[in-house]
Amino acid sequence: MHHHWEAARTPDGARYERCARCLKERPDGLSAGTKAGMGIGGGG
Ligand SMILES: [Zn+2]
Repeated sequence: MHHHWEAARTPDGARYERCARCLKERPDGLSAGTKAGMGIGGGG
């Protein structure tokens, strides 16, 4: 089943996407790939 993500807005005014079929909110985490090489070591 394919979800039909459509742009929607929350009462607060924040933008998000939900499915126009099952009204399911799209979870955060659209980034696909590897999570490496981001601030290694760190140091203020
Ligand atoms: Zn759906």
